Amino acid sequence: MRKLHIDNSFTNALPKDPIEENYTRQVEHVAFSKALPLKFAKSSFIHISKLAKELGFTEEDLQSEEFLQLFTGQQPYPNTESYAMAYAGHQFGNWAGQLGDGRAINLFETLQDGNRWAFQLKGAGPTPYSRSGDGLAVLRSSIREHLCSEAMHHLGIPSTRSLSLSLSGEEVLRDVMYDGHPAHEKGAIVCRVAPSFIRFGNFELAAAQGENELLKELADYTIATFFTDIKTSGAEAYLQFFQEVTDRTLEMIMHWQRVGFVHGVMNTDNMSILGLTIDYGPYGWLEPYDHGWTPNTTDRQHKRYRYGAQPEIGLWNLLQLANALFPLIEDAPALQRILDSYKTNYQVQYLDTMMNKIGIYYTHKDDRDLMQALEENLHLHETDMTIFYRELSKIDSKTAVKDAFKVISASFYTNTDVEEKHKNTWLQWLEAYIERLVFDMEQTDDDHSAFAKARIEKMNKTNPKYVLRNYISQLVIDAADQGDYELLGEVYEMLQNPYDEQPEFEKWYALRPEWARSKVGCSMLSCSS
Ligand code: AMP
Ligand code: MG
Repeated sequence: MRKLHIDNSFTNALPKDPIEENYTRQVEHVAFSKALPLKFAKSSFIHISKLAKELGFTEEDLQSEEFLQLFTGQQPYPNTESYAMAYAGHQFGNWAGQLGDGRAINLFETLQDGNRWAFQLKGAGPTPYSRSGDGLAVLRSSIREHLCSEAMHHLGIPSTRSLSLSLSGEEVLRDVMYDGHPAHEKGAIVCRVAPSFIRFGNFELAAAQGENELLKELADYTIATFFTDIKTSGAEAYLQFFQEVTDRTLEMIMHWQRVGFVHGVMNTDNMSILGLTIDYGPYGWLEPYDHGWTPNTTDRQHKRYRYGAQPEIGLWNLLQLANALFPLIEDAPALQRILDSYKTNYQVQYLDTMMNKIGIYYTHKDDRDLMQALEENLHLHETDMTIFYRELSKIDSKTAVKDAFKVISASFYTNTDVEEKHKNTWLQWLEAYIERLVFDMEQTDDDHSAFAKARIEKMNKTNPKYVLRNYISQLVIDAADQGDYELLGEVYEMLQNPYDEQPEFEKWYALRPEWARSKVGCSMLSCSS
């Protein structure tokens, strides 16, 4: 296998736990602890993503025993030592204290074409931060992380990546619905890749322990390595850092809202400091559009992390980060101004995203009302978010209202009810929408067909045709449980080009089938993974 350019910036810059044994404990003054992957009798790859080639690995590398040993954790890379990061977090709104990488083991960082990549195995065994967990992961949750993190990347959404998915060859005991029915499942390991896996929680841990020196080291390291445009120093630099994290977090969440992604567990330990989507657990994709929906059954009661609340939760999490950074800045009004900027920027970006989704590009004083009415209509009855927006590009300024209704009905789950109860409400909205399209048309000098064509192209770059619908993941998982990985490969291919028509995958551009409505794994997911 080719030689890697190892450059371990995190472990070189930050303090290491002096204890080297692997037992669960509370740590102090440290950013990470040594942690070695378990030795498994027979690890094997299920899937290697195209990221491998992007990272410069050749086909020969991928076939080599060394590559397998390395990315299943069976053999360390020469002169590297694996480790787990220390972090804390707020879980479901409550302070949870020290958490840390309980089942993620970091291998090393590389520099490749000027880009830094940290490699991390998820599910390779316990670490000093495993608390009562076993440090392992099951196949179903590993498939979900592997497929979705790559899908997000190809949707243009900042995310951690996944290099490979492997079986550990051993079994793991899990109680899927936490209802007293534990069962053995196949153990699996995902090799995740990102510039850094630092979370809000890393800063929160140092701050909660009153470790201002460690907090400063962590912030200085993060800025120097990942926020290189910051040229100031002291409090000014930390404020600028907080502003950038705030902006990136908002940008990430706006993307989630755009495509209907619900993270499911937006605890502060699951918030990347780089604004990457991280920790794919009980996430899900909106099928019927619903602000109140969360896939996470563990959050069923309060629905804290429901789709419609994600922007607000992002802000709440940033407030926790602001508190953690406070000792470095000691200027509450300045931090508050940044948090306020999130709110104003959200308003602007929300309108912008929605305009792009419905394909209007000039502003008009009634735009907010049009969006508001659309949001309300989408909640009238079950309407598939992905299909609705994708189909909308088939309507233009010359479409008759009744034809427009036919177009959008393709996204309705409950046709007959709609005909009776809500048709008029929709017709009214469509009339206003088409009028609005006429107004847009009048603003340009382009002829109708050129304008309409450009509009379809733009809309189709905003509204994906193919997303990782919850039931699709479940079908992949069911097949993989039987040792059949063909569907996994097919879905992976489809998700490489989510905005393209891809007629060969048309069957996945369809309403969720009825059987998936209340099936575990399709509409209900727990944190058990
Ligand atoms: P999550 O909700 O999956 O982000 O996990 C929250 C915390 O629990 C993190 O510190 C994880 O590392 C830890 N954790 C989750 N599952 C396990 C497991 N099976 N073994 C050890 N630690 C775990
Ligand atoms: Mg986590």
